[in-house]
Amino acid sequence: MQPILVSACLLGRPVRYDGRAKPLQAPLLARWQAEGRLIPICPEVAAGLLTPRPASEIAPGDDAAAVLDGHGAIRTRDGADVTAAFVDGAAQTVALARHHGCRHALLIDGSPSCGSGFVYSGRFDGLRQPGRGVVAEALIRAGVAVFAPAQIAQLAAALES
Ligand code: SF4
Repeated sequence: MQPILVSACLLGRPVRYDGRAKPLQAPLLARWQAEGRLIPICPEVAAGLLTPRPASEIAPGDDAAAVLDGHGAIRTRDGADVTAAFVDGAAQTVALARHHGCRHALLIDGSPSCGSGFVYSGRFDGLRQPGRGVVAEALIRAGVAVFAPAQIAQLAAALES
C-alpha cells in the first residue's frame, strides 16, 4: 500500500501560522488514515518556525523555483526574510518523502510552502495568483506527484494506476 505525504494541518494539527488547523473532512482521507498510510509533516514547524508565526508570502515577482534556486525570497508581512527556514522545510519534506518512499503528496493549497495551484501575491493584499509553494516545487522536482485537497479524487485515481 503506497504511503501518502500529507500537510499536517489537513489532519487537524494546529500548526498553521495563525495557530489553527485546516482539517479536511473527506472520506478518502479518513480511509487512508485508518489504513495507516499517511505521512504527515508541517515543513515550517519542522524547520523550527514557531506557532503561531507571522504570515509569510513569496516576494512579488519571485516564485518557488526562484526561491529554491537561491534568487528569490519569502518574507513576513513586516519584511523579515524567512527564506532559509522555508527552504530548509522543503528539504526536510523531500527527505521524509524519500525515507518513506512516498510518490504522492496531498498538500493544502495557497501556502508559500504547501501550495500547489495558487499562492498569494506577496503583497499581503489577499490576492491569489497561480503558483506553487516551495515544498510543492521541491517535491515535484524530486518526482513526487502533488495534489491539492480539491484534487483528492484524482489522487485516489493516481494511487490505483
Ligand atoms: Fe499546513 Fe504546510 Fe503551512 Fe504547515 S507549512 S501549516 S503543513 S500549509
